[in-house]
Amino acid sequence: MSKALIIGGSVGGLFAANMLRSIGWEATVFERNAEELTGRGAGISTHPQLHDVTRRLGIPFDDSMGIHIDTVVFLDHDGRCYDRRPTVRLMSSWGRVFRSLRDRMPPGSYRLGKSLLRVEQQAGSVTAIFADSTHEHGDFLIGADGGRSTVRELFLPGQQPDYAGYVAWRAMLNERDVPPATHEELFANFTYCLPPGELLLAYPVPGRNNETRPGQRAYNIVWYRPTTLPQLADSCTDVNGRQHGTSIPPPLLRPEIIAWSKAQAHALVAPQMAEIFERDPQPFFQAIFDFISPRIVFGRVALLGDAAFLARPHPGAGTTKCAIDAECLADSIAALGIDAGLAEYQRLQGAFGARLVRQGQRDGSYLTDQHNPREQLA
Ligand SMILES: Cc1cc2nc3c(=O)[nH]c(=O)nc-3n(C[C@H](O)[C@H](O)[C@H](O)COP(=O)(O)OP(=O)(O)OC[C@H]3O[C@@H](n4cnc5c(N)ncnc54)[C@H](O)[C@@H]3O)c2cc1C
Repeated sequence: MSKALIIGGSVGGLFAANMLRSIGWEATVFERNAEELTGRGAGISTHPQLHDVTRRLGIPFDDSMGIHIDTVVFLDHDGRCYDRRPTVRLMSSWGRVFRSLRDRMPPGSYRLGKSLLRVEQQAGSVTAIFADSTHEHGDFLIGADGGRSTVRELFLPGQQPDYAGYVAWRAMLNERDVPPATHEELFANFTYCLPPGELLLAYPVPGRNNETRPGQRAYNIVWYRPTTLPQLADSCTDVNGRQHGTSIPPPLLRPEIIAWSKAQAHALVAPQMAEIFERDPQPFFQAIFDFISPRIVFGRVALLGDAAFLARPHPGAGTTKCAIDAECLADSIAALGIDAGLAEYQRLQGAFGARLVRQGQRDGSYLTDQHNPREQLA
């Protein structure tokens, strides 16, 4: 049986493993974290293509996978609704999608504590070398190791994602902790607040234990805020003065940074949203980056998901892209064999990934253009 080595055990690696298994391959996932991954409940938009791929894997995308939304509302600074429109959305969570894929992996095919260091290629095969001094051989290797991919760095050294100039603050409350008036007015909707140069979205998602039943769900806020590189560096510095680069584990965020973000919420966004933000004891932020890979196939190595192309989150399609990449890779290999299949994957998903990154840049220009001098605006 042909064997794939998959680096990265998040949604990209799991879609790849499940799709390859569905065409008769042996597929093993190697995840660097020593403990099972958890999603901290982060909510995600879903798309029909994601539903189709999960169904194809035998996972019904039913009401247990997400929450249907049929109305978008826009709130002004004082919390008044000034526009309301129909929509069709199904909001899920990273954790819910991850769990449905992870549960399908047979024992021994998902290995924790395996951090890839190097890849060696031989004629028609590949070897992965891990930090614990072990190695594995396979017919090909997939780098599904995220936006800071080790696999990509090995084949495209020095090419790094670009900082978009803003961060996404995220807050989440259990449904029962949402103030009753806000629950009645807004919980079932997709809500926008648009302070000048900023963008806040709020919507219901599966609860912390992936529950979608009323009363057990959660309410999720994503608040995009322009942030200079020096501000980002300061926000990523912990109480002991240690600087963590461009991301910091939420528990290490300095209390004064959290207090400042809550004060900013009260000053800038609708009071209903500021109250949600206030009630979350541990809001956190993610800096937004994007990256277009000039290539995603290198001999018997392929990049997939965020490792291949890192798109800003505005199209809400990162997880969907993982599913589509995995489906394309498996179908191409099943139809054409490994080498021609990988070439077909490069052709199709190379173009698709670049388009998705550009779409994210266009959507994000709503934020960045408002901070450029007026004479630079088109
Ligand atoms: C603010 C925000 C909002 C978003 N909203 C949405 C949304 O609404 N809808 C949506 O679809 N997507 C959304 N996304 C994007 C989505 O979360 C990502 O696209 C998706 O998680 C990418 O999955 P991945 O498996 O490619 O990478 P990741 O989830 O980054 O996983 C990579 C994995 O590889 C592992 N790894 C890294 N290096 C190594 C190594 N050397 N060896 C072994 N393992 C390694 C990591 O530990 C990690 O588990 C959003 C993202 C952000 C930041």
